[in-house]
Amino acid sequence: MADCLFCKIIGKEIPAEIVFEDDRAVAFKDIHPIAPLHVLVVPREHIPTTNEVDDSNCALVGHIFEVAAQVARKAGFAESGYRCILNTNRDAGQEVFHVHMHVLGGKRLGPMLSR
Ligand code: AMP
Ligand code: ZN
Repeated sequence: MADCLFCKIIGKEIPAEIVFEDDRAVAFKDIHPIAPLHVLVVPREHIPTTNEVDDSNCALVGHIFEVAAQVARKAGFAESGYRCILNTNRDAGQEVFHVHMHVLGGKRLGPMLSR
């Protein structure tokens, strides 16, 4: 996707601090971290939102979870805990329309679900 920021990071047209990559996914540090560990894991394939996850790409999206766990393990937070977040569309505050998993850790993150 020509106009996609994360496709440009994947294509190395825009620099990012890449912490992991393989043939299906890339993980890089969020430019505005909100925790000591704040990494974004993206599929190499351009999928705009989780609404476009289907039979054809769900194995790839599942791989994102595997990479997130590896990133957390490598950072030393697999046992202490970490949080994975996927924002979809306006009400969730999605800013970049290329599916990405936020992996947050290294501090007590507090309750997520306020009622
Ligand atoms: P979201 O709101 O879920 O779409 O999250 C987008 C995330 O991308 C935000 O946390 C931004 O800080 C992050 N971000 C934006 N531009 C860059 C960039 N060039 N490199 C790394 N992270 C970025
Ligand atoms: Zn993209």
